[in-house]
Amino acid sequence: MKINSNYLNLEESYLFSTIAKKVNEFQINNKDADIIRLGIGDVTKPLCGAVIDAMKKATDEMGHAETFRGYGPEQGYTFLREKIRDYYSTRNVKLDVKEIFISDGAKSDLGNILDIFSKDNTVLIPDPVYPVYVDTNIMAGRKIIYLDANEENSFLPLPPKDLKVDIIYICSPNNPTGAVYNRSQLKLWVDYANKNNSVILFDAAYESFIDEKDCPHSIFEIDGAKSCAIEFCSFSKIAGFTGTRCGYTVIPMELERDSTKLNSLWLRRQTTKFNGVPYVVQRAAEAVFTQEGKKQIFETINYYKENAKIISDTLNELGIWFTGGKSSPYVWLKCPNNMTSWEFFDYLLSKAHIVGTPGSGFGKNGEGFFRLTAFGDRDNTIEAMKRIKELF
Ligand code: PLP
Repeated sequence: MKINSNYLNLEESYLFSTIAKKVNEFQINNKDADIIRLGIGDVTKPLCGAVIDAMKKATDEMGHAETFRGYGPEQGYTFLREKIRDYYSTRNVKLDVKEIFISDGAKSDLGNILDIFSKDNTVLIPDPVYPVYVDTNIMAGRKIIYLDANEENSFLPLPPKDLKVDIIYICSPNNPTGAVYNRSQLKLWVDYANKNNSVILFDAAYESFIDEKDCPHSIFEIDGAKSCAIEFCSFSKIAGFTGTRCGYTVIPMELERDSTKLNSLWLRRQTTKFNGVPYVVQRAAEAVFTQEGKKQIFETINYYKENAKIISDTLNELGIWFTGGKSSPYVWLKCPNNMTSWEFFDYLLSKAHIVGTPGSGFGKNGEGFFRLTAFGDRDNTIEAMKRIKELF
């Protein structure tokens, strides 16, 4: 008997445990310190009223024999898939419901999608990056090629010349850098993928934060994307579903490799290994697309966006270089005075009692950078920026 020894190649992630340990130690030694956490990647605002009402109604249905639901369709209920189809149509992206798969979140699908690809494929992953892309490929024993994202390319790397890869990860708006690709940049990626027979795995988990006209919410807004891309999206950051769990994946019928529709492979994979998202949760997600739901979720998104603006205005005032903060809940700043990410973490914690996330935890190119997030409380964000201004 042998284990999957690829797991032994995974690097232990100490990022968030080290942060927690350092903050705990600091608090014990500085009992009165009012610590503000701007490192948090989770949302803090509750689910909106429209979502809660839909959830309650669906829960009641589950308590009556006439309206009770057992196993649902593995790929999701049509009522939710239709709403997502209509949502895409507002951006002139025409989808068939069969191209939309409901899941328990983007993280699961981003990991599980690798089931349908050969282990021999090469993978291109930007650095720094959301660590799930890296670890899931290491688990599968796939060869990873890293693409440098850095200050020179404003953390928006473009397709490499003279290099052919099979699978490409793009996350826009990006976690951790907050950087967002515009239309012409994404077109370069789509053209590259079509030319090289690659498949783009496009992570749109933060699409609802986009307000710049030239930045697409979906890769399918780009001509030619349907023959080379799969899109992952989530209700987590859009509507506060981080604990409720719902997302979706779009695989166009046009997308074929080895004369096979990837949509059919994914359908087979999901119907074999997945039994669907709870009815109550899918009804809750459906409520996000109602008039009331849209209004309420955008109130929350705008609250986070205002926090992001408060952070970016402060950094602009101080002349600190950063990406993100616009069309994104993340602000990715260059550590002042050439400090390393962890030096800046310690400095900010000890001098201003503020916690952020060291960029080096997201890849080697994250060294010297630092992530602040807009998911916190407004007063705390304002207070934190006041402290940072005093410090610099
Ligand atoms: N993709 C990115 C880039 C993320 O940052 C996250 C969560 O932080 C996810 C996907 C996971 O989303 P979900 O909660 O839907 O699994």
